[in-house]
Amino acid sequence: MGGGPVAAPPVRNEEKEAMKTGKAAVMVGFNKPFEIRNYPVPESLEPGAVLVKMVMAGICGTDVHTWLGHTGGKVLQFPVILGHENVGEIVETGGEVKDWNGVVLKKGDRITWPTTIGTYCYQCFNCTVAGIPNKCLQRKTYGAGISSEQPPHFFGGWAEYCYLYPRTSLFRLPDGLPPEALVASGCAAPTMVHASEKADIHVGDTVVIQGSGAVGLFGAIVARENGAGKVIVVGGPKERLELARRWGADSTIDISELKDPRDRIQRVKEESLSAYGADVVFECSGIPAAFAEGVQYARDGGRYVVVGQFMDAGPSESFHPFWITFKELTVKGSYSWEPKHTGRAVALIDRVKEKYPLKDIVTHRYPLEQTTEALQSVRDWKTIKAVLVP
Ligand SMILES: [Zn+2]
Ligand SMILES: [Zn+2]
Repeated sequence: MGGGPVAAPPVRNEEKEAMKTGKAAVMVGFNKPFEIRNYPVPESLEPGAVLVKMVMAGICGTDVHTWLGHTGGKVLQFPVILGHENVGEIVETGGEVKDWNGVVLKKGDRITWPTTIGTYCYQCFNCTVAGIPNKCLQRKTYGAGISSEQPPHFFGGWAEYCYLYPRTSLFRLPDGLPPEALVASGCAAPTMVHASEKADIHVGDTVVIQGSGAVGLFGAIVARENGAGKVIVVGGPKERLELARRWGADSTIDISELKDPRDRIQRVKEESLSAYGADVVFECSGIPAAFAEGVQYARDGGRYVVVGQFMDAGPSESFHPFWITFKELTVKGSYSWEPKHTGRAVALIDRVKEKYPLKDIVTHRYPLEQTTEALQSVRDWKTIKAVLVP
């Protein structure tokens, strides 16, 4: 379903002049340069829908994977508009629309939203029997999930506008919350809010986080704000570990300095508040071998939440399941998040925006025309956080 934008019906001259268009950076294929396309801006909204002008959109690791074609078998209907770490300013609403917290939204309000179009079905097996609506079997998503050739076109954040269907979970940003602070932590924030609920962190716990990407870094904040007695981040490189310490970690372990996992396990035990190891471990690195190592960080009866293995990166060859039984470990997976976690993340970020220098990590800003360069720099680890400013 390639080709150019859908041909508009013939219009009279004055109508043609009145028709407003907006730019979008569209992904036309895996590994291909992004193209700028113009689409008509929707003029009348269905009841409950919202049209926003994009203020800022983050570039997430998942976007890079999608661009490179690591989609885990998911078929994309090209062209698509990516961008799911979004802040937009309301241009128009289809009648009265309230945000998640019941606030009536008005023109000029800044909002963010999770990737689910509308809401979960609350009828499928996962929504009801399994009780994990974040894995709703009927879920449809903005961004990569829908072709931008289909009206109303603006389905992702890497564009001048975004069209939000009725019943999408919308969150009004508190006044004075800079968009950078929200986009900087992007989907890492609700991901870790969700994971922390699974970990059941108690006041005074030693919490170890494996990985210092966006998810691991925000994990340090979440652990700290949940009352952890000690927060240890294991990862690298040096600049990211410095950031981890500014974001709530008490200590960091650099994997390029302590290269042998046995030394890192020893160090975690020395650094933990109890000599027996950590109460809670989060796997946020996505590296399969990290799992066997993380099991050894945990004390007997500890909790291990595996968050980072979002893509199938192959098997872990060195793992002995014996340790789960022997240590009586609780091991849980945590996948994505629900809208309630976005709401909690927004509230948390607003409260701690001065305490941790969140917005300072936005190191690179690009216009839509430089989307390809932006993706390349994220792919090549040249940025801490890159954003598109349409
Ligand atoms: Zn993401
Ligand atoms: Zn469902």
